[in-house]
Amino acid sequence: MENNMIDDIVEKIYSEERISTDDAMRLFAHPNVTELGLLADVVRRRKWPKDQVTYNIGRNINYTNVCWVRCDFCAFYRPPGSDEGYTLPREQIYEKIDELIAVGGDVPKGSEILMQGGLNPKLRVDYYEDLFSSIRNRYPQIHQHCLSATEIIYIAHISRMSLEKCIRRLRDAGLDSIPGAGAEILSDEVRDIIGFRKDRVHEWLAVHRIAHELDLHTSATMMYGHVETIEQRIEHLEHIRNLQDETGGFTAFIAWNFQPDYTALADDQGRWNGIKATGFDYLRTIAIARLFLDNIKSFQASWVTQGAKVAQVSLKYGVNDFGSTMMEENVVSAAGTSHTDTMTLQEMQRLIRDAGYEPVRRNTRYEILN
Ligand code: SF4
Repeated sequence: MENNMIDDIVEKIYSEERISTDDAMRLFAHPNVTELGLLADVVRRRKWPKDQVTYNIGRNINYTNVCWVRCDFCAFYRPPGSDEGYTLPREQIYEKIDELIAVGGDVPKGSEILMQGGLNPKLRVDYYEDLFSSIRNRYPQIHQHCLSATEIIYIAHISRMSLEKCIRRLRDAGLDSIPGAGAEILSDEVRDIIGFRKDRVHEWLAVHRIAHELDLHTSATMMYGHVETIEQRIEHLEHIRNLQDETGGFTAFIAWNFQPDYTALADDQGRWNGIKATGFDYLRTIAIARLFLDNIKSFQASWVTQGAKVAQVSLKYGVNDFGSTMMEENVVSAAGTSHTDTMTLQEMQRLIRDAGYEPVRRNTRYEILN
């Protein structure tokens, strides 16, 4: 692997030395994205040596779309009082879980529901306790991977309790783990521009830190390609790496680019330049994230935003996991993403095999299921 521009960084990677933020800046400027992929694959194989790619049988459930936060990059929410706002009746949630069980079977904690919604002023902690405990009682085999830091901060706030108490109560009711949604870019400067009502960086980190301390695993995400600079992307990665050093509670990292359709941000040319991130930007970003986040074991492809083909290619750029079958998607599809209804389990397995890997099923903790 010859390139004088990054020889010193290549050496660090081969000798398992941590790369710096300056190194990451130089990698973003490096013209040879294929070389970044080869390096990222070296790190991936240290953590996942076999020619296997994991996937999860899961389904998304968006229990409510009512949200007062009105983030400018979001096309999913409806403000309180809107005719188009909904909160799913419990029976409808059960029906969705029944459909998941029909696909994923009864493997204990082998299938996950990823249940997320908006910040709905009518739903306090007792609503969620009842929701999680009723699902746990009815479907003890289902892993509840639910909410986001943003939702949890608001639930604690309107229920007048500390974050720690709120997370503890949700966990005791049946919450098994928390997705990394709501991270966007962990820079308050960026958050001021794209969603100023949203939680601050230290608050997002606090939820994950407390969850980890309470033995709840979480994932980390990044939504890039809007108003942030490359420095701010790296700042984001640094926040995640630092917290992972502290707690070790992140199971995986997932990145995707801003999906602009029908969003307020896309309509405001003063803030967004209208240039949608490309597939190369995704591959470069995920490869550099793999090199920088040397303390996170799993990297998940975002087939839903990048499409099946780029997701397949990302397996050569540090990614070891194809994500979830999802079964439905309402958030990025509201913002114009068109890859959301095309992935059956068989298709996912075919894509993994065709890329040269054996597809293996995992649970939400990224443990391989037999
Ligand atoms: S991204 Fe989340 S918090 Fe922001 S408006 Fe959409 S649903 Fe609400």
